[in-house]
Amino acid sequence: MDNREEAQKPVLALIAHDQKKDDLVDFVGRHISHFSECRIFTTGTTGSRIIAEHKDLDLMPLKSGPLGGDQQIGGMIAEGNVDGLIFFVDPLTPMPHDVDVKALMRLAIVYDIPMALNRSTAEILLTNFAEQADGELDA
Ligand code: PGA
Repeated sequence: MDNREEAQKPVLALIAHDQKKDDLVDFVGRHISHFSECRIFTTGTTGSRIIAEHKDLDLMPLKSGPLGGDQQIGGMIAEGNVDGLIFFVDPLTPMPHDVDVKALMRLAIVYDIPMALNRSTAEILLTNFAEQADGELDA
């Protein structure tokens, strides 16, 4: 893959709260062919968990969420550098960095990027990305 193809790969941000990390690792495994076609940015612990199982992905972990990782991804969204956000949220556990999580979701809304906050929506988001990629290949 040359640099131009590399630059055209869709950029996805992946995050999972602790109780949802197993679920996200499983989700990535089930859709590995789609994720292999993407550049992926994650918060720190989420990324370590995914890369431990799926070593060949083009994946860059940022800081851990509570230490600023959510804000880093928010900054990338504000710069126009993220095409989609998949964030497996745990709605049952209070988070010390809840304000950061809200700020990230707010920016995804402000910049109108596709944002999936649970597994079933992530399935739809990924299917849509794959269809767009197929359409570009056919064009
Ligand atoms: P983590 O951060 O991947 O570093 O655990 C996720 C979060 O809680 O925002």
